[in-house]
Amino acid sequence: MIIAGDWALPVTSAPIRRGAVRVQGSKITSVGTLEQLTRANPSDSIHDHPGCVITPGLVNAHTHLSLSSMLGLLPPSDFATWISHMAGPVQALSPDDFADAAAFGALECLRSGITVVGDIAYGPEAPAAAADTGIGGVFFWEVLGISADELPEALARHDFPAESSACDGRTLCGISPHAPYTSGPGLIKAAYDYARRWHYDFAIHVAESLAETRLLAAGEGPLRSAVERLAPDFRAPGVGTVRYLEHLGVLKDAVAVHCVNLMPGEAELLAAHARGVVLCPRSNRYLLNGPAPVAQLRMAGVRLALGTDSLASNDVLDLFAEARELIAIDPELTSERVLRIMTIEGAQVLGVDRDYGSLEAGKHADLVAIQIADTDDPIGALVTRGAPEHIRSVVTGGIWRLIDGRMAFLTKEIEQKSARVAEKAARALRGA
Ligand SMILES: [Zn+2]
Repeated sequence: MIIAGDWALPVTSAPIRRGAVRVQGSKITSVGTLEQLTRANPSDSIHDHPGCVITPGLVNAHTHLSLSSMLGLLPPSDFATWISHMAGPVQALSPDDFADAAAFGALECLRSGITVVGDIAYGPEAPAAAADTGIGGVFFWEVLGISADELPEALARHDFPAESSACDGRTLCGISPHAPYTSGPGLIKAAYDYARRWHYDFAIHVAESLAETRLLAAGEGPLRSAVERLAPDFRAPGVGTVRYLEHLGVLKDAVAVHCVNLMPGEAELLAAHARGVVLCPRSNRYLLNGPAPVAQLRMAGVRLALGTDSLASNDVLDLFAEARELIAIDPELTSERVLRIMTIEGAQVLGVDRDYGSLEAGKHADLVAIQIADTDDPIGALVTRGAPEHIRSVVTGGIWRLIDGRMAFLTKEIEQKSARVAEKAARALRGA
């Protein structure tokens, strides 16, 4: 089939006016003008989207889909207060709750044009919801603990899969020690070594709050009591988080999430060693962490991705809203760069750019048709005015998931799971 619009934005090459993408099975086989593709493939069906741009599926590089039921539960507050209020509700969630929440989160992603995630998982529920809805990406199993010998038990408790490639070939697995104040250096190092040895991706929350940087650099501040409880052996290393991770030997190829409070020289360390940084500007604002030093990271040459973080610290899974927050922080970012961050660069940070992030022959057929006004600058129009309500169609792996704004090809079960959470979340939001 051929999917066409007023413009196609391949991302890795110039916008194509009256552009189109040819899909066979689950893959893209060619990209060009509608005229070129129909002439070469006269018997293909044509799905035209007048007034739309066709883009690759967007990459939301940091989510916690299994926590989507917390939408509206915790109001915006400072990070240390918020995280102390998070622990109780998260521990009270059952695997069924995680499954319902992940279904809701996955459908919210599709409605926003997101087809690829870098998700922090607490078991098999989130990747299962992703497989059910056609979302792909990397699912980082969260591990907590102090010493290296806790790792096998931490992985086994949450059914960590024995293979890095699971589900339907669209999903990879990774490992994520939560953060340097909830996991001891022994566990962080063991998780990293295990990931490297068995070819899993590795992610970690890094320098998210000033409280974290104060704790690591000086051993003080509001996270001191949390770390005494969670990682009693913890000794403040006397440096910022990035340098601490580099000293531990776990920065090479790591996916570093947040990176808001950096010490001098740490942006350069990230550029030299990390796979990339996932920025979550609206979550950072929700938790009063302040903006990340986006211009500094950009000028240091760090590869950048965008993430919404969980619905416990955001009210929508909307990458366009994140993009506009990013531009407000760093007005010198071009629309072209922002679109790359939302697509191919995000896929590079997650290590899945061979399959995702651009419209190119051989990649998974993940496409989004987004309504925009008539324009000669489709990338500028998309970045400044894109929104979930303008998403007309979503295709993942060659399967229609959203047709003319409505969900398609979903099991009753996944819709019911999602509806349960939507109701709960709406009640919580009304209460808040
Ligand atoms: Zn997070």
